[in-house]
Amino acid sequence: MLSYLPEFVDPLGFADKRRRVVGELPLALFDRIEEFLFERTGSIRVELEFGKDGRWSVVTGWVEADLVLQCQLCLDRLPWSVRLRVALGVVASLEEADRLPASCEPLLFDGGAPIRLSDLVQDELVLAVPPIPQHAVCGDNAPPGPQAENGKRENPFAVLAQLKNNDSKFS
Ligand SMILES: [Zn+2]
Repeated sequence: MLSYLPEFVDPLGFADKRRRVVGELPLALFDRIEEFLFERTGSIRVELEFGKDGRWSVVTGWVEADLVLQCQLCLDRLPWSVRLRVALGVVASLEEADRLPASCEPLLFDGGAPIRLSDLVQDELVLAVPPIPQHAVCGDNAPPGPQAENGKRENPFAVLAQLKNNDSKFS
């Protein structure tokens, strides 16, 4: 689902208005990770809330993507799912950044021209891409995780049914 995202954000103004931006950005905007991508189509899901934490303007939320990187050893596809927690505190200087709560990373903003949203997201995203993407074992293209443990997993519908039963007890 593609929804509207502003091209630019003003972190201070948005924080005052407690704005929330939710939507998807096309992967083509992210030139700094492009060289690592095996597939350049797709999108980055973004959910950000601008608000206040004490005297700080903060940006919190998530950046999510199902990337397909290129393994630097065998040059084959390497699926790479990313779900990044974003917690930024808006600061005007590096000195101010030192006073931020430990839970926040600094977002340098001088109060002037708004920031391009894709730049803000890209700064986060580059941290989630390994410097040299590679398979744990090349040639073994089975995606890690779910498939291997299929046998052990509970039927999700059984869990849903159970939840419904619990609900009805209280209604
Ligand atoms: Zn490989």
